[in-house]
Amino acid sequence: TEAATAPHALPVEPATAPPARDLFSKFDPLIAEREALLATGVRDPFAIVMERVKSPTEAVIRGKDTILLGTYNYMGMTFDPDVIAAGKAALDQFGSGTNGSRMLNGTFRDHVDAEEALKEFYGADHAMVFSTGYQANLGILSTIATKGEYIILDADSHASIYDGCALGNAEIVRFRHNSVEDLDKRLGRLPAEAGKLVVLEGVYSMLGDIAPLRQMVEVARKHGAMVLVDEAHSMGFFGEHGRGVYEEVGLELGTDVDFVIGTFSKSVGTVGGFCVSNHPKFEVMRLSCRPYIFTASLPPSVVATAATSIRKLMTADKKRAQLWDNARTLHRGLTDMGFKLGTAQPDSAIIAIILDDQQQAVVMWQALLEGGLYVNMARPPATPAGTFLLRCSLCAEHTPEQIERVLAMFGAAGRAVGVIS
Ligand code: PMP
Repeated sequence: TEAATAPHALPVEPATAPPARDLFSKFDPLIAEREALLATGVRDPFAIVMERVKSPTEAVIRGKDTILLGTYNYMGMTFDPDVIAAGKAALDQFGSGTNGSRMLNGTFRDHVDAEEALKEFYGADHAMVFSTGYQANLGILSTIATKGEYIILDADSHASIYDGCALGNAEIVRFRHNSVEDLDKRLGRLPAEAGKLVVLEGVYSMLGDIAPLRQMVEVARKHGAMVLVDEAHSMGFFGEHGRGVYEEVGLELGTDVDFVIGTFSKSVGTVGGFCVSNHPKFEVMRLSCRPYIFTASLPPSVVATAATSIRKLMTADKKRAQLWDNARTLHRGLTDMGFKLGTAQPDSAIIAIILDDQQQAVVMWQALLEGGLYVNMARPPATPAGTFLLRCSLCAEHTPEQIERVLAMFGAAGRAVGVIS
């Protein structure tokens, strides 16, 4: 035909390509594991849809009213009327999005205001807002330490910390979870003159345990290391001003801790991430941090809700007290029933029930959901030491009556599945 003889025509018969190696074949074990699990008749714990959300503690899932005990809405700010009003006003005044990077056209009034609110909240000189907490870790860790420098991190660090290390060029050294002794030993083996950053978390989110931050910081300083603490799961309710575990144990930003990383997706009740610091050169991060520069900034409505929420959290003493009350009541109730928990005391607002295997965890998870309770199912690789967990995260807005119902549901499901007798 004419087309076939034209100079730029494609060949009618494509040349036979070598057989493609299917890049998806490496996922076969994961697909098989998931199919085997679903074949037992349980529902997929990673495919839940909230059809309606009625409050920070209640949603409708598959038509059923369900108590939420597996969100990070610790302070219940998602339905705060001032927070919602701030978001609506910003949506009306500034539109739905920024269409650009913070570095170019994407810095609006409320991005600056959210950073001001963070500076007030932490009493900090500098605050930098990222599009998520994940990106804050990605950006700060990959930028701050580079070739010939060291990042020393807890083995149970969050994925975003590991990924931040993977994106950068620093040497990575891990120490045993929460072991001050191992941190000391590993720091002692590094060249004295090399730059070092020790990365810690206030609360470790899988088991809900807290870091021995005072001793960790003392050891880090002894070896001349800078310190970064991710306070994602403590903001709002640890410490006098809700700044985190570091504040609770009497440490200070600047003197003891160089950088605090946090998120808007938990106590603040929206989405976004940040880093605060008193380092005099901190602003240079805005010019060098790729996950800050090469992505669009948060919508104005999001940063406006964040700024309002952060300022309200500064004085949320009653909510803090209620959240701790709830954590104590749930921890005591589950312990009394005979469940094996991640921590001996209620260290944080996360209470993890440790189960034997995936099958037991999923069956129990499903029994709870059918009874009207949503908790998180967590499994390796997210969990430490290959454990299967049902994670409860409390909210300041859970009522004593809801906690009582939650305990009754755990009792019934635990006995039905044979986890407790
Ligand atoms: N750090 C820690 C310790 C976290 O647990 C999380 C999220 N679960 C993040 C960072 C990331 O936060 P974001 O949801 O804002 O990406």
